Amino acid sequence: MNIVLLGAPGAGKGTQAQKLVEEFGLVHISTGDLLRAAVKAQSKLGLEAKSYMDAGKLVPDALVINLVKERLMADDAQAGFILDGFPRNTAQAVTLDSELAAMERDLDAALLVDVKPEVIVTRLSSRRTCRSCGYTAPAGVDVCPRCGGEMHQRDDDKPETIQRRLDVYQTQTAPLIEYYRGHSILKEVDGDRPVDEVYADVKALLTA
Ligand code: AMP
Repeated sequence: MNIVLLGAPGAGKGTQAQKLVEEFGLVHISTGDLLRAAVKAQSKLGLEAKSYMDAGKLVPDALVINLVKERLMADDAQAGFILDGFPRNTAQAVTLDSELAAMERDLDAALLVDVKPEVIVTRLSSRRTCRSCGYTAPAGVDVCPRCGGEMHQRDDDKPETIQRRLDVYQTQTAPLIEYYRGHSILKEVDGDRPVDEVYADVKALLTA
């Protein structure tokens, strides 16, 4: 199963991806996590990406596309993947289609986790993320329940950057909903509910 996750930052894509990984053994490819790891390692890519990320803007397509291409070619991604945070604009979606076609693979579903903007602002401003493994939880959780790492607030989850990220989502990423509807692979779930309820619908949609 090859899946693309769509939805605003903070919609719960990462949480649903984690559950799909556990149940279906798919590989979770989060471009945000890959970019944050590059920033932490201070690699050339990380140094180039950091200023865009801090400002809540998209990192240039060429940098992200290369990262995803490499990851899709790895052995562990051959049995199925969940792309989380990619594609983020139409150019990335078109490139993904042609890269997958070249590998004689295709997408089974584009899953939209739909949450209203006002809910997103509240969720993102109270979100804490593990410095080590990227696990997310609401404010108040100081130690990562998954790996014991330190939970902190991502710089781009601070109020001044959240609105910019939502604007970027509306203008650049939301058009992908129609793109994948046009390809007849769009599946939609109401993400403004408890995690397990959302996941029950996700599973039903993907296995129907
Ligand atoms: P995320 O964790 O998915 O919210 O991503 C955090 C930040 O990483 C975004 O605000 C962008 O700056 C950058 N980023 C992640 N994925 C992409 C992508 N597909 N294209 C461009 N920038 C991205």
